[in-house]
Amino acid sequence: MGQITEPQTCFICRKHNGEIDSPGGAVYEDEWVFAGHAFIPDGKDTAYLGMLLLEPKRHVANWIDLSDAEGEAMGRAAARIARALKKVCRAEHVYTFVLGHSIDHLHMFIIPRYPDTPREFWGLNVDDWPGAPRGGIEEIEDLCEDLRSALE
Ligand SMILES: [Zn+2]
Repeated sequence: MGQITEPQTCFICRKHNGEIDSPGGAVYEDEWVFAGHAFIPDGKDTAYLGMLLLEPKRHVANWIDLSDAEGEAMGRAAARIARALKKVCRAEHVYTFVLGHSIDHLHMFIIPRYPDTPREFWGLNVDDWPGAPRGGIEEIEDLCEDLRSALE
């Protein structure tokens, strides 16, 4: 148990409200959920391409707080997004992680593992592989456009 974040100050809620731009725009959005690309980390010029975040629109901390409709929407979106990543990024595997250590608004990481990723980078540190495809905002925008097309 940690920080208590009110929806009006929550980074994820502010992104959903349009106060903060999601890089590349929404990749997937419906009544219940929002998915977009991860931000470029502070102090870096590029992000691991294809690292997506899927979030319920309602400010809840964990799966245990979701309604059935929200849970269904999360699962449906995760499956569709994983298929799009496999196709667009030619992922050999797609990870889904929920950690929830730093912000109390549920967010699922959906991350492609690229072919030839060395075994020591499999799992939570897949984005540490120096050989992974990375890109700045223009590459992120292009990828998000391709993912939206694949999701239609
Ligand atoms: Zn929130």
